Amino acid sequence: MSFVADFESLPISDLLDVATTTSRELVQDTLLKTDLTLTDFAVLISPMAAGSLEPLCRRSQQLTQQRFGKVIRLFAPLYLSNECINNCQYCGFSRDNPIFRVTLSAEEVKREGRALLSQGFRNILLVSGEHPKFVSNGYLRECVEALHEEVPGLSLEVGPMETTDYEPLVEAGAEGLVVYQETYDREIYARMHTAGPKRNFDWRMETPERAYAAGFRRLGIGALYGLSDWRLEALSVAAHARYLLRNCWKAQVSVSLPRLRPCAGEFEPLTHMTDRELVQLVCAFRLMFPDVGLVLSTREPARLRDGLMPLGITLLSAGSHTEPGGYTGAGKSKLHHTKRGHIVELGASEWASPDLNATRQFDIADSRSPEEVARHIRRLGYEPVWKDWDAALSPCEMSTNA
Ligand code: SF4
Repeated sequence: MSFVADFESLPISDLLDVATTTSRELVQDTLLKTDLTLTDFAVLISPMAAGSLEPLCRRSQQLTQQRFGKVIRLFAPLYLSNECINNCQYCGFSRDNPIFRVTLSAEEVKREGRALLSQGFRNILLVSGEHPKFVSNGYLRECVEALHEEVPGLSLEVGPMETTDYEPLVEAGAEGLVVYQETYDREIYARMHTAGPKRNFDWRMETPERAYAAGFRRLGIGALYGLSDWRLEALSVAAHARYLLRNCWKAQVSVSLPRLRPCAGEFEPLTHMTDRELVQLVCAFRLMFPDVGLVLSTREPARLRDGLMPLGITLLSAGSHTEPGGYTGAGKSKLHHTKRGHIVELGASEWASPDLNATRQFDIADSRSPEEVARHIRRLGYEPVWKDWDAALSPCEMSTNA
């Protein structure tokens, strides 16, 4: 049985009822519990529990320090290509968006990787749009091979594949696979994904299981907050994480909490999650899953990231670029402009700008350098760790969205 069957039998409306009608007493009792159920998690993300944010934060901080120590791991995304055959309404790389695109060669990927190594990173997430012509399995393997010798921690966030297509990537040295369901609301999912293989909701949801079968030992999941009701998404992510922990038990599971950011196409979020609700959700995930890595990206502003660091987050991206070639300018000479999936010619004046770069997937909100972020982590009394994987030491986590 895959998670799809589990998901179908999830009593989501009952859980949402708990999340909206729970009592103060139940919140107090749940804060003292260990070994939480999904119903307990629903209690912790309720508006009533928002009134107990302080004790919730204290408990989350305590648990995080107990399980992970005073350590924050750092990673960076490395974008390989912004070519994509899918149309996802909320993404700058959507096929129909008229943007500047490029696919880096393995040699250019190596240059980008070395730039990140020189900043201190040893833990890199390779990100790409989904395009079988430009981003073939063979191409991905070449990129992993180009980096593997020098970069100890490599993960992938690329279009979902069959298990047999993942296997060569694991053999080449990739350890982690990140895939967000984006939204667990089937109706919104259908509205958001109007073209391309990503339209298949179930195939996407089973991706972490196929990746596990291929040998990936770090699995990252998450929802993109801003598409459907955040409590529905959070309950579904929690159910998914619980399933993976039980069924893919040799892997370390991590959960990311990305909120929608501005991008090409200018999509407006359909729902809103406040900063306070994000804090509540981070803490609720920590209480529900004491050993699971919680990931926060540069989508969030510096002040909020700084505040969240000691509360439950264990993995942070820093200094991120969300376009291919962002760290070195690699690939600039190969840029092309596409509209509705076709290359369009531009006038000379439109190409004239010396600063022309590949288009970003989305705008980041924390633009501090990795060193500045590391300094802040030290100021908080925590140790920034650049290497993801100290195998013997502690649980490891990985996943992001830049
Ligand atoms: S979210 Fe991923 S699949 Fe969708 S358009 Fe963006 S890069 Fe392509």
